[in-house]
Amino acid sequence: MIIGGDVNLANQMLSRARRASFYSGRLPDKPLRSLSELAQIPLTTKADLREHSPYGFLAVPKHEVAAYHESFGTTGKPVSIWLAEDDLLDTADEINTCGVNLSVADTVLIRYPYAISQVAHTFHLAARLRGACVIPASSRSTISPFPRIVNMMRYLDVTVLAALPLQAILLARCAELMGLSPARDFPGLRAICSAGEPLSPQRRKLIQEIWNAPVFDNYGMTEIGAAALDCLYGRLHPVLSDFVFELLEEDRETPVRPGNIGYLVVSTLKRRATPLVRYWTGDRARLVPELCPCGAQYRLEVRGRQEDCLQVAGHLFDLWDLEAMIQHVPGKGLWVVGPLEPFGLHFVVESREFGQDTKSQEALTILGGQDRVPIQISLVPPGTFFDPQALLDIGEVGKPRYIYSTEELDAKAYTKSLRL
Ligand SMILES: [Zn+2]
Repeated sequence: MIIGGDVNLANQMLSRARRASFYSGRLPDKPLRSLSELAQIPLTTKADLREHSPYGFLAVPKHEVAAYHESFGTTGKPVSIWLAEDDLLDTADEINTCGVNLSVADTVLIRYPYAISQVAHTFHLAARLRGACVIPASSRSTISPFPRIVNMMRYLDVTVLAALPLQAILLARCAELMGLSPARDFPGLRAICSAGEPLSPQRRKLIQEIWNAPVFDNYGMTEIGAAALDCLYGRLHPVLSDFVFELLEEDRETPVRPGNIGYLVVSTLKRRATPLVRYWTGDRARLVPELCPCGAQYRLEVRGRQEDCLQVAGHLFDLWDLEAMIQHVPGKGLWVVGPLEPFGLHFVVESREFGQDTKSQEALTILGGQDRVPIQISLVPPGTFFDPQALLDIGEVGKPRYIYSTEELDAKAYTKSLRL
């Protein structure tokens, strides 16, 4: 199936894309007569982006570029994405279609990584355009360790936390270790904005319960921007004005039947600096025709990447399937899963119901799921997957230090531990 945009916008996109060296000769010479003709154009893959970075996809003169970002894959070589000023503004507008409805009354703490990747910056701009106060509190930075962020959320009365789902869970864990209740001790927190990882219904529920605040999801990536946002009712809707969405079978040709899971292909109708025509995102997804009270006609389920699925005896289990299998485990927190020999799935689940003094001893085997696959669930105490002390660690100081006391110098001068 193919939805979104219209043929005029698609033709404008093709005109812009022809200016990029990668697309010269790959696109039809004549304008499309209907949106369905888009399907005759070859796909653009991440391997194409990687191979032709940094300049092969640049479609505007360098002086029109306002920002540069990279996304990383497993192979190491980065992918280059250039953005013009209007690309930044469009992406911020896409983010502001979200039902979280940021306003001047909000203090938004942004915990996405600011270094190199895009979402922190465009979310930041979106919040500023709505007049909100922004606290840039990057993850993966030594200057903003977990306890500092937990404290800031309290004394600055943060109303919206924007973070990857795992970050939201780890911040809550850190708050608990500091003797706080995430559900009760942050009364100003009215919403959590999620991005960067697929958000299954179970994980959404977990975060909502931990923080006692609704979660609003944002599906996108550095390559394309914000392509789907949660509405006021917590349903993820594709931004049909800015993108064309297709779902294909694994053969990368056959359109999936409506309502079935396929691989998501996205065309960026508005992007100027790095337009992408039929970008194979690698994400498995389902477009559900479903009229929402907000007026949207489609809901998008992002089920995760193919490499994040587990294949057992010919069955492919994605994040949503796996979460559903362990949804009834009491006190469930973080979990991991692997194959159970000779056939089945073995989950290791952090559970608050589990005594601190026992570790991984109690296991139960059940036969569950529609596919009748044997499942073993081993419960382990909270804190098994992440060292609590590491969460509380204040990390390295952010500023270089040149002035030491005599005692400090005596103690450190002849060791390698002197840290500037
Ligand atoms: Zn809706």
